[in-house]
Amino acid sequence: MALQKSTEVNGGICDGTCAAANARTHAGVDAGTSPTGTAEKRIKALLTYPPGAVGKPITYSLVRQFDLWINILHAEIAADKAGRLIMDILGDASDIDRGLAFLEDEGIEYEILNGSALWDEDRCVHCGACTAVCPSHALTLDKNDWSLAFDREKCYLCRLCTRACPVGAMSTPI
Ligand code: SF4
Ligand code: SF4
Repeated sequence: MALQKSTEVNGGICDGTCAAANARTHAGVDAGTSPTGTAEKRIKALLTYPPGAVGKPITYSLVRQFDLWINILHAEIAADKAGRLIMDILGDASDIDRGLAFLEDEGIEYEILNGSALWDEDRCVHCGACTAVCPSHALTLDKNDWSLAFDREKCYLCRLCTRACPVGAMSTPI
């Protein structure tokens, strides 16, 4: 599967290095082919920036120092505030491990994201509130009967739907 080439940054600003980080993904790479021909790994990670760390060129460093391919999926970051960044990371397994160690050294917390949000269809009243906040368009309303449709493959676990749902029908495993 090809690495997603379009970048969607929602709800905030990046740390100023999004363009540089995504420039590398725009060059194009297949997830099944390592850029260096060695053991390849692809992860999805949620980075949590503490206040004061937002200005650090974290994504730029991941690209330049550790030869990683970064695709920023979602960003909620503003100067002098804590922020969250969800990204795809592709590269040699050892480089990813070194990049994650670098994040820890820089005081950036991270979670490896697996799977998708959970939809309790029985509880859902199909109000559509979650579709208005879902940045990946995983949640949509069917134009024929206005029922909610959930494409789990598109979900990247940003958790915005869990806050928007008035009846608690959306949750996440993490
Ligand atoms: S967690 Fe919810 S809002 Fe976020 S991408 Fe997944 S379905 Fe959409
Ligand atoms: S916000 Fe909740 S109740 Fe409304 S459509 Fe989404 S999941 Fe269903």
